[in-house]
Amino acid sequence: MKISYIIYLLLSVLVLISCRNQNMDHSHLDHSRVSESEIIKGIYGNPESLMKMHPRLSDLGINAVFARKSALTTDLYDQLRHDSIKIFIEFPLLNGKEYLKDHPEAWPINEKGEKAPPADWFMGICVTDSGFIQSKRDELEDFLGKNEVDGVWLDYLHWHAQFETPEPILPETCFCNRCINLFKSYSELEIPKGSTARQASFILKNHDKEWRKWRASIITNVVREFRDILKKYQENSLLGLYYCPWYPHEYDSALYRTLGLDMQSLDSLADVLTPMVYHQKMGRSPFWVKEYIDWISDKTEEWGTGTEIWPIVQAHNDPGIITPEEFRSVMEYGLSGNSSGVMMFSVYSLTDDSLKVVEMKDLYRQTKIKN
Ligand SMILES: [Zn+2]
Repeated sequence: MKISYIIYLLLSVLVLISCRNQNMDHSHLDHSRVSESEIIKGIYGNPESLMKMHPRLSDLGINAVFARKSALTTDLYDQLRHDSIKIFIEFPLLNGKEYLKDHPEAWPINEKGEKAPPADWFMGICVTDSGFIQSKRDELEDFLGKNEVDGVWLDYLHWHAQFETPEPILPETCFCNRCINLFKSYSELEIPKGSTARQASFILKNHDKEWRKWRASIITNVVREFRDILKKYQENSLLGLYYCPWYPHEYDSALYRTLGLDMQSLDSLADVLTPMVYHQKMGRSPFWVKEYIDWISDKTEEWGTGTEIWPIVQAHNDPGIITPEEFRSVMEYGLSGNSSGVMMFSVYSLTDDSLKVVEMKDLYRQTKIKN
C-alpha cells in the first residue's frame, strides 16, 4: 500500500513536470516563416539610403529589415518581398511624446504629484491611460489589416525613464489618481486619503513590493494584449521585444523596480527578445555585449521558453566613434550564446561609413547556419 502510494506520488510529479514543460516549451518558430536553422542578418532603420548604394540587400548578406512602419512604402515592401528579405516592423508602444501634445491627462505623474519632466529626449506615458492604449491598439490593427509582415517589434517598453545613457534617469511614476486607484483594487490595500504626494510617500514607504509588482503587471498585460492583436491578425507573425539589457541587480534593481520589466513574464509572451545592447551609449565595453547575450541565453534556458534572441548592437557614433573594427566585434558578440540573429542601430550609421558596410557584408556572408 505504502509503496504503491509512493509510486502514485512519483507518477503525479512526473505528469505535472511533463505538462509544465509542454506549456513552457513553445518552440516559437515552428509555425513561422523563419526556419529554425536560419540566422537573422538584419538591419534596423529605413533601408532606402543603403539601397541607393546597394540595390539588392541580399548582395550584402542581409536577410531581414527592421523598420518603422512609416518607412514601409509600397515600392519598398514589394522590392523587399521580391528579394526574399523578411520584413519586421518596429512599433513604438509606450512613447508618449506625440500623444501628450493633445492629451495632457495621460502625463505620467511623479511622487511629488507633479508631471514628470522628459527624461532626456524621451517622454513616456501613464501606461494605464486607456485613451492612449486604445490609440495604439487602433494604430496596430489598422496597420496589420493592410500589411502582411513577418513580425512586429514593440519598442519603448517601460514606464517613463531613460536607460540609453551611462547615467540613467529613473523617476518614480505614475501616481495619477487612476494609477493609485487601480493599485488599490489590485493590492486590496487601504491608501489614506490626502494629497498625491502623501499617498505616493505612503505607498513607497509601506507597500513598495506590491507597488513594483503592480507596475510590472501593467507592462506585462499590455504586451499580452498587443501579442493577442498581432496573432489575431497574422498568427504566424512574430512578436519581438526591444528592451533594456540591464542585469536584475543594476541601479538598485531598476529594470524591475523602475522600468517595470518582469523579464520572465515578458519572455513567456515574446517570440523573440531583442536586448538593446548599445555598449558605448551605456558606458560599457564591447565585450559586455557577449557577457549579456550569454547571460540572457542561460536565463531563457532556465525559464524553458526557447525564445529566440536577436540583439540590436550599436553602430551609431554616439557619444564617441564606433570604429568599423569595434562594430564588427559587437556584431560578432551579438551572435554569441543562443543568439540566432543580430541587427544594428542603425542603417544611417552604415551609409555614413562604408567600411562598416564592408564589415557587415563580410560577417553576414560567412554566417550561415547556427551551430
Ligand atoms: Zn497614471
